[in-house]
Amino acid sequence: MPTFVYMTRCDGCGHCVDICPSNIMHIDTTYRRAYNIEPSMCWECYSCVKACPQNAIDCRGYADFAPMGHSVRVLREPEKGTISWKIKFRNGHEKNFESPIRTTPWGSIKSASEYAAPNPDAFKSQELAHEPEALNIDKLPALTPDQLKQGVV
Ligand code: SF4
Ligand code: SF4
Repeated sequence: MPTFVYMTRCDGCGHCVDICPSNIMHIDTTYRRAYNIEPSMCWECYSCVKACPQNAIDCRGYADFAPMGHSVRVLREPEKGTISWKIKFRNGHEKNFESPIRTTPWGSIKSASEYAAPNPDAFKSQELAHEPEALNIDKLPALTPDQLKQGVV
């Protein structure tokens, strides 16, 4: 579900522009308000929705999820640590979801450039960056060669 901006709520702060990984949130040079320049290139990550301090960004629901006449409203409440989603269907039914924002404080995530450069040997590993320690485990589970043979006749 790509996003769109309610221009009357937006104050042009640019947080959505800074956070959008697809670089499709731009500030209109005439109106000084944000808009999604290319919804078809939206990753649907909702980083902009969560980052907007004015709750000015909403999602265009897909027809099978939220048919015409619906609305999808999101509310970020950092003091409660929650994101709430309110889906309103055109027949008036509502669905409400509330989720924790994340387990780390807002703004505390380091960018890739703030980490030490990886050891070149790490490129030969199938593990992702910071695995396994970031998962709080000593080692990723893996099948042993004898387990791969199980069930093979
Ligand atoms: Fe950019 Fe993600 Fe917002 Fe789409 S949902 S406009 S990709 S930040
Ligand atoms: Fe407008 Fe919200 Fe984007 Fe700020 S983060 S520019 S208020 S849409």
